[in-house]
Amino acid sequence: MEEFINSLKKGKFRMPVCLSCGRKAWPPSRRCPHCLCKTSLKTIKTIGTLIEFSSSHIKGREGAFGLVEMAGIRLIASFGDLPLKEGMKVKMSSCGIKPDGTAFYFFAPAGLDINIRRNKDKRT
Ligand SMILES: [Zn+2]
Repeated sequence: MEEFINSLKKGKFRMPVCLSCGRKAWPPSRRCPHCLCKTSLKTIKTIGTLIEFSSSHIKGREGAFGLVEMAGIRLIASFGDLPLKEGMKVKMSSCGIKPDGTAFYFFAPAGLDINIRRNKDKRT
C-alpha cells in the first residue's frame, strides 16, 4: 500500500481502517479484508503489549525482536538492548523504511519512555 509506505518513510505509523465497517486492515491494504470496501489511514495509539521476544545474531540483523499486539493487530517490533519481559507495555519509539526497502518498527518499554519524557521536562 503506497500511501502507508509513504507515511512510514516520513516516520509516521498510520493504520489502514475500513471506511465501511471500521475494521483495521493488517497487513496494510487499500481494501478491507472483511468487506472489501476502501480503507483510509488513521493515526492510532502506538502502545501495545509484548507477546514474546527473541534476539537475532544474524550479521547485519542483530538485535532484539518481538511480537507486539497493538490496537488489535500484531507486528514484529525491533528493540534496543533493553531488559524485555513478556506481557510488558511497549510504545513505538520510531518507524520507517530502511535503505534496503524493508519496514522497521522500533519499540521501547512504555514506562521507560514516560520517564525519559519527564526528565526532559525537568531540564527545560
Ligand atoms: Zn470493512
